[in-house]
Amino acid sequence: MFCIDRITLREIHLALKEPFRISSGVESVRRILLLEITDRDGAMVWGECVAPALPNYTPETIDTAWLAIREWLAPRLLGRRLTGPAVVHDLLAQDIRGHNMAKAALEMGCWGLTAEIEQRPLTLVLGGTRERVPTGISLGIQRSPELLVERALAAVAAGYRKVKLKIQPGQDVEYVRAVRAALGPDVEIMADANAAYSIGDAPHLLQLDEFELLMLEQPLGADALLQLAELQRQLRTPLCLDESIIDVSRARDMIALQCGRIINIKPGRVGGFSASKAIHDVCQEAGIPVWCGGMLESGVGRAYNVALASLPNFSMPGDLSPSARYWTRDVVSPEWTMGADGLVKVPRDRPGLGVDVDADYIESLTVRTETLSAARAAVPV
Ligand SMILES: [Mg+2]
Repeated sequence: MFCIDRITLREIHLALKEPFRISSGVESVRRILLLEITDRDGAMVWGECVAPALPNYTPETIDTAWLAIREWLAPRLLGRRLTGPAVVHDLLAQDIRGHNMAKAALEMGCWGLTAEIEQRPLTLVLGGTRERVPTGISLGIQRSPELLVERALAAVAAGYRKVKLKIQPGQDVEYVRAVRAALGPDVEIMADANAAYSIGDAPHLLQLDEFELLMLEQPLGADALLQLAELQRQLRTPLCLDESIIDVSRARDMIALQCGRIINIKPGRVGGFSASKAIHDVCQEAGIPVWCGGMLESGVGRAYNVALASLPNFSMPGDLSPSARYWTRDVVSPEWTMGADGLVKVPRDRPGLGVDVDADYIESLTVRTETLSAARAAVPV
């Protein structure tokens, strides 16, 4: 039982160590929306909204998320007595379509707040079983196959359990070929197209079969389920869906249509932890492995993802790279690290998120802030 008294939204600008390029765009400075969620008794937790600056992944952006949280979503929660975090998803879903990342920031924050109030680790509140989670690296598109090979070799040397290559038309088969040749047959390699191809590219994409990829992620558009099924029938490489899976119903569609064999669960994309757990369970029952993707989160968002990835069916390495992969200095301490064995420790020995959040550093990075309070009466649902 808790009752949220106020929610402070903060936009921070966190510079990436190097620009990160995918098929739909490039990011150099990450605009990140952080939330401070405080309940009536003074318990507080940090949350993160993963919506990017531009609508090039899903329709959402940091600015639409800010608006959605302020105008429609936060008023549903502020001042309302909530029996637990599991009720929040439906409360935010009713008559508010989409805006999954905005919803997820609040919904996951409620799970985090519960962990703080109950003084239990977030992983245990969620039902996580793993003590360590394997991590892979996601490598952005490079200017040449040689540069990509250099990054991939360094990643394997650092211990990463999986190497994911971002691809796009014109920078695909030869890039993957070069990396497979350099890394040998035993390293798990996958490619992610972020929806950059069309079904007419099927003959071209079939060339990827020769490289024994662990999976090919989201080659076609998010809504192209029938075409993805057609591609999967031709392709030996398993398809993994990311952008397509916006809720548990889409996961069921994928299984029924056989348009993918693996799901990349990003809690932000599906509206939070309850939806992530539902997808996890449906996939587990169907024998479909899942893994946790990344959205260039700060250490706050990483805490939530690591907790999620501790659930049992997260059986493939997630994009849970350590803080130093992206940031010169992360907003949490200790920063997220990875062992030489490619494993990230799940914080099970301290309550809440498992890391301290550096409020002074965040203050210095903040470019705008807004506090929403329970004084604005809860909107009846
Ligand atoms: Mg992806």
